[in-house]
Amino acid sequence: MQRLITELSRLPGIGKRSAERVAFYLLKRPAEEAAALARAIEDLKKNVHHCSVCFNLTEHDPCAICGDAQRDRTQVLVVEQPRDVATMEQTGMYKGVYHVLMGRLSPLDGIGPGELNIDSLMARLTSDKVREVILGTNPSIEGDGTALYLARELGAHGVKVSRLGRGLPTGSELEYVSKAVLADALHGRQDLAP
Ligand code: ZN
Repeated sequence: MQRLITELSRLPGIGKRSAERVAFYLLKRPAEEAAALARAIEDLKKNVHHCSVCFNLTEHDPCAICGDAQRDRTQVLVVEQPRDVATMEQTGMYKGVYHVLMGRLSPLDGIGPGELNIDSLMARLTSDKVREVILGTNPSIEGDGTALYLARELGAHGVKVSRLGRGLPTGSELEYVSKAVLADALHGRQDLAP
């Protein structure tokens, strides 16, 4: 019991009190139910990987979005985290593909361009004949800095670059923005280059 409570309280947003509540709840439930939860956690680490094209999380490589022939491969939306892909997909508005940086530039934390999936993004410009890159990094200081850096690099390659804009509250994170605002930000994106 104590081991489970310790493990549960490591989860984000779960304090010791909540961990105890979950542990006691599981104790009361049928054994199959607890086993199903344990299996789901095990399978998550065994079966979920990064897509080799866009770095989204997936059980199959390439992911369902990259493998979908209906999606426009020449339009790439760049985001910081896999959960941003999920958030954008919920709007149902975007028909292009994605590229997940796995973070943002943060010189103070030692995160430079080499630490993010930027080389693979540049490689896609030619291999997928990309015509537009939409920068969907968070509207925070570091997200803006990352967008600025990418706009310069991408602009030098002659590709059209735009930034998710209108309505996104400064300092916010995409995952907490409402679907309507996100759809509006996609629609009202601003050209950065050329
Ligand atoms: Zn993918």
